[in-house]
Amino acid sequence: MSGTKHNWTKEDILGIYNKPLMELLYEAAIVHRLNHDPNVVQVSTLLSIKTGGCSEDCGYCPQAARYHTNIEGNDLMSVQQVKAQALRAKARGSSRVCMGAAWRNVKDGVEFDAVLEMVRTINKLDMEVCCTLGMITENQAQRLAEAGLYAYNHNLDASEAYYKKIISTRGYQDRLDTIANVRKTNVTVCSGGIIGMGENIEDRAGMLVALSTLNPQPESTPINALVAVEGTPLEDEKPVSIWDMIRMVATTRIVMPKTQIRLSAGRTQMSREGQAMCFFAGANSVFAGDKLLTTPNPDVNEDIEMFELLGLNLQKPFTKKDQPQTVEAQASQFKSLGEKPKWTRPTHKIERNERANKKG
Ligand code: SF4
Repeated sequence: MSGTKHNWTKEDILGIYNKPLMELLYEAAIVHRLNHDPNVVQVSTLLSIKTGGCSEDCGYCPQAARYHTNIEGNDLMSVQQVKAQALRAKARGSSRVCMGAAWRNVKDGVEFDAVLEMVRTINKLDMEVCCTLGMITENQAQRLAEAGLYAYNHNLDASEAYYKKIISTRGYQDRLDTIANVRKTNVTVCSGGIIGMGENIEDRAGMLVALSTLNPQPESTPINALVAVEGTPLEDEKPVSIWDMIRMVATTRIVMPKTQIRLSAGRTQMSREGQAMCFFAGANSVFAGDKLLTTPNPDVNEDIEMFELLGLNLQKPFTKKDQPQTVEAQASQFKSLGEKPKWTRPTHKIERNERANKKG
């Protein structure tokens, strides 16, 4: 296994990203082989347990209540519904279920208690459980850990500079603070970002600086290609080129050698050949299921066919880290604090977000 460097600079990363493509692919493939089995892919299923109606203004997101998209919102799913979906995902080869709720941050109370029960339930199915619930406090992270959470997803989305052009309802430091709260537990960190939001290559390198200088680096990093949804501020962004995606994956692999790199949103726009190049460049995980929260995703059978074609085997759950133990609610050490944390609300305005809000 090669060592992990934590002091990558933007210049280092730009130097890697801009290498001649064959050079970049070769280097990334070597790093990949030194740190992972290149013939194994990890499959996660993303489940939207509470869709739409979100108070935030993320420019890429159709679930933000302020934009006029055709998303059908739903209240929090029941534990039984989640269990049924998890079993279905397991039968189709997923080793991980990632539950997403369209929340700004977690609030203590019945809904969070229900999510904790979902975590316990899925962990008992011997699947890795991940949650993406917005910002969380240390106590909330501890409670999730106790329930048996394997990973917490909290994407940095972009570089700090570009983040301000996409989201105005919370600050970058809030993201980093949530990741730091997760790091105080034994839950692994999943954090990545999105390309194709109008950012330049320097911004992409800036995002990779932010992710790769975390110590420890995230155990998994989703690289999303924007799916421009009508009604969102980013509706007119052109699909990102596959070559940009390949370069981004390869660069991420080199600077984050041990991280599991996940192809996430935007996979329906990628050919099999394009995805194969991404796997060669170091991607070793995908999201499965016909929907990713609210946007389309390749059919599960198509993915299975692709893995067979490429000779990729499915990663078993808990290959990278032992299964956490679940503590039942009655035996919990960490009680609800009924906290009202003060996550920031920056004051800057983003014109295109304001326009999309007013469109109506
Ligand atoms: S990305 Fe998450 S926080 Fe942002 S608007 Fe969508 S659901 Fe809300």
